[in-house]
Amino acid sequence: MSDTQRAARRYVAPAAGKIKARVLEAIRAAGSYGLTDHEIAERLGAYETTSRSKRIALRDEGEIIDSGRRRRGPRGVGMIVWIARQTKQQAGGPACPRCGSTRHVDVVVHAGRSTRRDCARCGRFLAFARWHESEEKSGGPADKATNGAET
Ligand SMILES: [Zn+2]
Repeated sequence: MSDTQRAARRYVAPAAGKIKARVLEAIRAAGSYGLTDHEIAERLGAYETTSRSKRIALRDEGEIIDSGRRRRGPRGVGMIVWIARQTKQQAGGPACPRCGSTRHVDVVVHAGRSTRRDCARCGRFLAFARWHESEEKSGGPADKATNGAET
């Protein structure tokens, strides 16, 4: 590696890490409202492709999660609203049967109709904190109607 390459790498690495930190900071600041890729780019004054790559890294690291909600982007397409994982972390409640943690995260799912509660440490599904009946019954927990007389 030449000195020039080494210098370039030294310069680029912290800058990239800084953008990622700013993406996470922006999402945390947005609280439960969350941010879409487009909104993140807007707040940072960065290209959406740049902020998106950092957002993907943050998701892979478990720092942020899909809120289950969607907001329209500039092209009229529903975009995933991302929230910081710790935004909805709360102490208390039953201990996780897998890891024993009593911290959990509430994840809004089903277009805001339900809230799923996962272990904050290991991610194990614990319960549905809130469950609203939806039109389509697929995937509902313990929702197997056996009487065949659904309305
Ligand atoms: Zn756990």
